[in-house]
Amino acid sequence: MIDNDVITIDGPAASGKSSVGKAIADFFGYLFFDTGLMYRAVSWAAIQAGLDIRDEEAISFLAEQIDIKIYPASIPDGRMYDVIVDEEDVTWQIRSPAVNSCVSQISTYERVRSAMTAKQREMGKQGKIVMVGRDIGTVVMPNAKFKFYLEATAEERAKRRCMEIVRKNGEGVYKNILQSIKGRDQIDSSREIAPLKPARDANIINTDGKTFDEVVNEVISIIKIKKPGG
Ligand code: C5P
Repeated sequence: MIDNDVITIDGPAASGKSSVGKAIADFFGYLFFDTGLMYRAVSWAAIQAGLDIRDEEAISFLAEQIDIKIYPASIPDGRMYDVIVDEEDVTWQIRSPAVNSCVSQISTYERVRSAMTAKQREMGKQGKIVMVGRDIGTVVMPNAKFKFYLEATAEERAKRRCMEIVRKNGEGVYKNILQSIKGRDQIDSSREIAPLKPARDANIINTDGKTFDEVVNEVISIIKIKKPGG
């Protein structure tokens, strides 16, 4: 039996599965389901519990017990969805370097995989879904009508991931600097003694969008105009 309304997208890390999958899901009005987050959630919980990553028995047991819930994004902070593990919002924690470094090892454990596969099939059964991962077309939903596999060289994927981090962190750095600048302005201009403000007879030069040279020239030309005998 073919699952007509199941679309699977598999591929290696940073191959664009999630962004492509989300766009496809939005286009068809399907649910988007990133299965990687389940392995990440187990890894996060294992770290939290202080388990040894090589302790297959303990981690398998944890994977069989864990309650992972996925809801539509409740906070507009760039997330695609909320990931709740045992009532804790771990949406961002599961993307941490600590999780990145152990998730693939944990994903090799047979009982971990069968626990996750069972949950994923349960989700897949409802249909109208785009599922992305590593083994969705091969193992989890082998009867899906539409299967895709995205690939790109590791170098290309590393470059994309790098740009993504710079883009994200760049925005974060900018926000931090902006906040710090505004905070200092506020203190400087509201203090009692010698607050920051233009002198009543100052020439106010707005430097927004001007180059260093343009500003210097503007100052020089004002001086020249006002200079007695200039
Ligand atoms: O897709 P993402 O990079 O978030 O997946 C994290 C890890 O989870 C992968 O590196 C892989 O080890 C594992 N995974 C898996 N099977 C899936 C999805 C993810 O083994 N279907």
